[in-house]
Amino acid sequence: MSTTQAASNSNFDIFSQLEAHNHEQVVFCQDKDTGLKAIIAIHNTVLGPGLGGTRVWHYNNDYEAFNDVMRLSRGMTYKAAISGLNLGGAKAVIIGDAKTIKTEALMRKFGRFVENLNGKYITAEDVNTTTRDMEYVHMETSHVVGLPESMGGGGDPSPVTAYGVYMGMKAAAKHAFGNESLQGKKVAVQGLGKVGGHLVEHLHKEGAQLFVTDLNQDAMKKYNKEFGATVVSGDEIFGLDVDIFAPCALGAVLNTENINKLKAKVIAGAANNQLADEEVHGKMLIEKGIAYAPDFLINAGGLINVYQEYIGYNKETAMRNTEHIYDVTLEIFKQASAKNIHTQKAAIEMAEKRINDILKVRSTY
Ligand code: NAD
Repeated sequence: MSTTQAASNSNFDIFSQLEAHNHEQVVFCQDKDTGLKAIIAIHNTVLGPGLGGTRVWHYNNDYEAFNDVMRLSRGMTYKAAISGLNLGGAKAVIIGDAKTIKTEALMRKFGRFVENLNGKYITAEDVNTTTRDMEYVHMETSHVVGLPESMGGGGDPSPVTAYGVYMGMKAAAKHAFGNESLQGKKVAVQGLGKVGGHLVEHLHKEGAQLFVTDLNQDAMKKYNKEFGATVVSGDEIFGLDVDIFAPCALGAVLNTENINKLKAKVIAGAANNQLADEEVHGKMLIEKGIAYAPDFLINAGGLINVYQEYIGYNKETAMRNTEHIYDVTLEIFKQASAKNIHTQKAAIEMAEKRINDILKVRSTY
């Protein structure tokens, strides 16, 4: 089949996809020698350069990869905007199996594509990329953050993400229970990885009663032994008689079946895209009287940390700015109640308002 035939047979209209959420630019990167196939999507750069990690994933087809990078880059725009950062939203995906395709040459070639964008896109670690990979990227471009402390970077952003989630959880508790204290509160944490683990430490310090689950038995043993957490298995975590549920493992866990099981009055966790369907499940949480702290708002600590790296790293400033998540979360609950909308929608509206306001500020020379 000729290229023209293939194009005419296809319903895949790239420019309609870009227009749908007003993406500025999408770059397709190909290199036969290294096997690199990557897509960089820059969603919006009104507030600043688009920053977002590079994910390596074995997509079933190119369309799936395109869809993912489009969705993720838009999410980064909102996360940066609501966090008060002068950053836009972007993301990159490298197509392939991370176990076999990642080489120094491939990561450096990718770095050259990033360099060609002259700072309009800044990359970082994401799913299946490591600090080491970013060191390779850094050999070809300075437009990369999330570097080790030994290279002047901010190191692993996960503890800062966990601190932000903790702040968001306290604000949600204040809204739901009239008091921000988590002492004695029963909290169920799903996922004891880099973020969930640090979150458990904050909660333990404040005297929360902990219930945890993970696929990793060793992690569960550790948090049981060191922090007195009660270990539960798998889906049992959803139906526990607790005050707060913290999803820190997977996206889309807030679906109809799981929400119906929940007894918690607050949801505040680190996982991205927790609502399986934003409209349906956002509304369902209101009906069930559950206070939901929007994921992209309360898990922004890591982004706040890498932004500090971009402007000149200072840990104290990163932590102070992350603390601000508490105030913004409270404000979101207020706005959502006043407008009678779910909190995820209120958060998106707040992010869009900031972008539109700043766009007007920049309308004159
Ligand atoms: P991680 O990979 O270190 O930890 C995830 C943990 O969840 C692992 O221990 C894994 O075993 C566990 N897990 C996976 N599936 C599970 C299941 N079905 N039930 C129970 N446990 C399960 O990841 P992380 O860096 O801690 O991130 C956690 C979540 O937060 C992810 O969704 C991530 O996208 C999001 N997030 C992370 C950061 C960050 O700074 N690391 C920033 C923003 C958002």
